[in-house]
Amino acid sequence: MSVLVLADLDNTQLSPATARVVGAAAQLGAVDLLVLDPAATSAASALQGVAKVISAAVPLEAKAIAALLESLAPHYDYIVASASSVGKDVMPRLAAKLDIQPVTDIIAIEGASCFVRPVYAGNALETVSDSQAKHVLTVRASAFRPVAGTGSAPVETLSSTVPAAARLIAQHRTESDVPDLSTAQVVVGGGVSVGSAEGFKLIENLGAVLGAAVGATRAAVDAGYAPNDWQVGQTGKIIAPDIYIAVGISGALQHLAGIQGAKKIIAINKDPEAPIVKIADVALIGDLFEIVPQLTAELQNLGVSRRG
Ligand SMILES: Cc1cc2nc3c(=O)[nH]c(=O)nc-3n(C[C@H](O)[C@H](O)[C@H](O)COP(=O)(O)OP(=O)(O)OC[C@H]3O[C@@H](n4cnc5c(N)ncnc54)[C@H](O)[C@@H]3O)c2cc1C
Repeated sequence: MSVLVLADLDNTQLSPATARVVGAAAQLGAVDLLVLDPAATSAASALQGVAKVISAAVPLEAKAIAALLESLAPHYDYIVASASSVGKDVMPRLAAKLDIQPVTDIIAIEGASCFVRPVYAGNALETVSDSQAKHVLTVRASAFRPVAGTGSAPVETLSSTVPAAARLIAQHRTESDVPDLSTAQVVVGGGVSVGSAEGFKLIENLGAVLGAAVGATRAAVDAGYAPNDWQVGQTGKIIAPDIYIAVGISGALQHLAGIQGAKKIIAINKDPEAPIVKIADVALIGDLFEIVPQLTAELQNLGVSRRG
């Protein structure tokens, strides 16, 4: 079976999610990896399980990417992307063009045409048998193990085939040295009780000491304390860190839907009855404005630093 994976990019570099999507796709067959920025081709070529890297300098615009994938589709049985914002934007367009029902957000592959995906905000798992001749899939990257970066696949360069109707006017990218939320090993999340964007610096400082990504509840995002792309949950990002530190977060179902893959949860909350405390592996009961600065200072004193 032949598989085409659309590489996920973090600005011009390969996102850590790509190695995980390749890990998933390799269960289906030989993987060709489509990379839309030449700067990312050498990292792509090093991924184990990649038979060939296809490099194409297409603007990162959903219409253009879907058109390019459509032109490559006749050569593949599966076309796979990460369930990132780009994947969610591109793959339904591609599926519509190919007149295919996509299977989205898969977390396990049980056979050549049998996939598991969460439904009802992660409260149930659905096993889908896809009887179509060609499969368009998005993969929840955090559910799969990454392949190693020790390969050396050949690179084929495509001349770009941007449809005339698609024109990228401008692209505004977030520059950050904080780890990617979707693939970070440690995440510190803050809730609305942090009180302000300034107060959220407490969460960011703790995150910086731990080399962690920073997340937020929807309530904190809606209040303007944290940017939209930090939102974790049903309508935000799905994360699966080794450690999730939930600071002043109640543990509403819609937030828990985003952290079900977290291996250990540490809750800092003043309410011992908060739902997050009930599911946490470790709970520190008290005022976050006392606990978080103390914890940050203690970790700094211990010389704990995963960054730099
Ligand atoms: C359709 C839909 C989709 C949604 N999607 C999402 C989503 O993707 N992500 C998401 O997060 N939410 C989502 N929500 C919102 C969700 O239901 C909750 O409202 C939200 O998660 C609550 O955020 P919070 O924990 O910051 O606030 P609250 O629920 O208000 O909890 C605040 C917590 O902070 C604690 N606290 C207060 N002060 C302190 C202090 N000084 N020290 C320590 N602890 C303190 C309190 O005890 C409490 O547990 C969604 C809701 C709907 C209806």
